[in-house]
Amino acid sequence: MVRRIMHVDMDAFYASVEQVDNPHLKGKPVIIGASRRGVVSAASYEARKYGIHSAMPVFKARKLCPHGIFLPGRKERYREKSREIMVILERISPLVEQVSIDEAFVDISGTEALHGPPGDLGEKLKARILESTHLTCSIGIAPNKFLAKIASDMKKPDGLTIIEEEHMHTLLSQLPISKIPGIGTKTSTLLDRLGVRSPADILRRPQTFWMEKLGKTGSCLYRMAQGIDHSEVTPYAAIKSCSAEDTFPEDTQDLHLIKKWLFHQAEAVARDLRHKGLKGKTISIKVKYRDFKVATRSLTLPGATNCTQTIFQGACRLLQKLHKAQKIRLVGVGVSNIQRGPQQMSLFPNPEALRSERLDSAVDKIREKYGHRMITTGLVMDLDR
Ligand SMILES: [Mg+2]
Repeated sequence: MVRRIMHVDMDAFYASVEQVDNPHLKGKPVIIGASRRGVVSAASYEARKYGIHSAMPVFKARKLCPHGIFLPGRKERYREKSREIMVILERISPLVEQVSIDEAFVDISGTEALHGPPGDLGEKLKARILESTHLTCSIGIAPNKFLAKIASDMKKPDGLTIIEEEHMHTLLSQLPISKIPGIGTKTSTLLDRLGVRSPADILRRPQTFWMEKLGKTGSCLYRMAQGIDHSEVTPYAAIKSCSAEDTFPEDTQDLHLIKKWLFHQAEAVARDLRHKGLKGKTISIKVKYRDFKVATRSLTLPGATNCTQTIFQGACRLLQKLHKAQKIRLVGVGVSNIQRGPQQMSLFPNPEALRSERLDSAVDKIREKYGHRMITTGLVMDLDR
């Protein structure tokens, strides 16, 4: 059976959600990322015309587009929308692999009898997502994940691109090498130096050459240049970690304040895990000091968790190891070593853990019903964000 993989990528996701929720923002340059010292996390297509793109420092974006609308972003709302989209995808095939908040692969091999030809399914899906969320997406359909991802990027926004096996080689000979997903700075510098412009240029040298130069990345690159990618669409496998981080409005050494941010992040991460039915065993924190040096520390628990309190307490323990004489610019909390599904019930459950679990699920329920702001823990109430 021919493999058919679909890659669905929402268009300017955060910015588009803002434009849908606030119609007066439609047609305007909307930039998510308002903190003076942070970076842009999304830019509407109107803002991209000014050369603004994600990961650009906010101050630079402000210079490029002084009349742009800079918003702080509402992660909870984006997660909500993301969930809505994933549910729509899961109705097509159980093989949905969410790769980020606004991106997923769907294995649609053998679904023609049920859903019609891939092109029709793509159109139908786009219409369904638009109808339910008022958001547009771009879809790529190809014989494997790697090519599907390239395809979804080809006609953005609101595009649908199908790459057939027989056209693959022509496409790869014309594609700029920068379009290959996942090429880091080091590799791209080397490729540039070697005069590699397209995937076809990679094949001018033997695989051994690339393995010598780049190791594992080299052999992967060689395979991709031939359009080969056997990796499967595996639900949940892509979620290797879950994290949140914030740059403070001002550098600080105030332990109490830093812990408030950690709590807010632990809460976001834990809730995300609970939402996806996942737990993680390793808690980590990241600290960026005033001089931009970054340090990380992690600890591994005896059992996996998605409990806000447990993650927060772990993060606080780690913070003690990193709290130095220097002021701190950014903190982040992450959970990795992810496991799926309910953990085996303990014969002698720890009453404190049970209490925390019940509290988490009560908070989740209230928020689902009345919105995120409805309930806030005392610790984060006066947090300015
Ligand atoms: Mg996207």
